[in-house]
Amino acid sequence: MKKEIIYWAKRAYNKDLSPATSGNISCVDIDNKVLITSSGSSFADLEEDDIVKVDKEGNIIEGIKKPSSEKNMHLLIYKKRPDIKAIIHCHCPYITAFAVSNKEINEVIMPEFGLYFGSIPISKYFLPSSYELAQNVSDLFKNKNAVLMKNHGIIVGSKSLKEAFYMLESINAYSKTYIFSKIISSPKSLNKKQIKEIEKLKN
Ligand code: 13P
Ligand code: ZN
Repeated sequence: MKKEIIYWAKRAYNKDLSPATSGNISCVDIDNKVLITSSGSSFADLEEDDIVKVDKEGNIIEGIKKPSSEKNMHLLIYKKRPDIKAIIHCHCPYITAFAVSNKEINEVIMPEFGLYFGSIPISKYFLPSSYELAQNVSDLFKNKNAVLMKNHGIIVGSKSLKEAFYMLESINAYSKTYIFSKIISSPKSLNKKQIKEIEKLKN
C-alpha cells in the first residue's frame, strides 16, 4: 500500500495537482489502520519512510516521521464514511481558483460533471490543520466524495486511490476548461434534457 501511495502521489505531482510540499494522501490498510503521508513531505519524491501508520484515533503505530497536519480531517472522513478507503487532499492551482473565489463547482458544462464527480460544495474557511476545518469538511462529506476548502484547496475520497486520483484529475480538467472558457467567452451549461441523458448512462 505504501508503494501505491507513492505511485499516485508522483502521478499527481507530475500533473501539477499538488505543488511543492502541499497536500497529503492516506488510505485504509487491510488491518483497518490508516497509512498517511508525513507532514512536510512532497508528492514529488515521497519514499516509504515518509508514510506513517496511525490507528483510527491518530496514534502512531509505525513510522518515525510526524503524520500529516491534516490527519484529523482524513480520520474524521473515514469515521463518517466507512465506504471511503482512500483520500487525496491537494492545492491544485486550477481547482484552488474556485476555492479562493468562494465558488462551488456546480455548472454542468461537460459530461464528466455528472458521470464522475457531480457538484462540489465548499467548506467555510478555517485555519489549515485545525479541528474546526476537519469537522466542517468531514460534515460536507456525508453525501459527497469531493469538497472544496475555502481559500485552501480540495479533498477527494473514494474506495481506492486509483478512483480518488481519477476523480481529482477530472475535476482539474473541468476547472481548467471552465477558466479557459471564461477567457474565450463564457461557459455554456448543458440543458436539463442533456443532463438527464447523461444521468441515464450511469445506470
Ligand atoms: P502536511 O504537509 O502537514 O500534510 O500539510 C500540507 C497541507 O496541505 C496542509 O493543508
Ligand atoms: Zn492543504
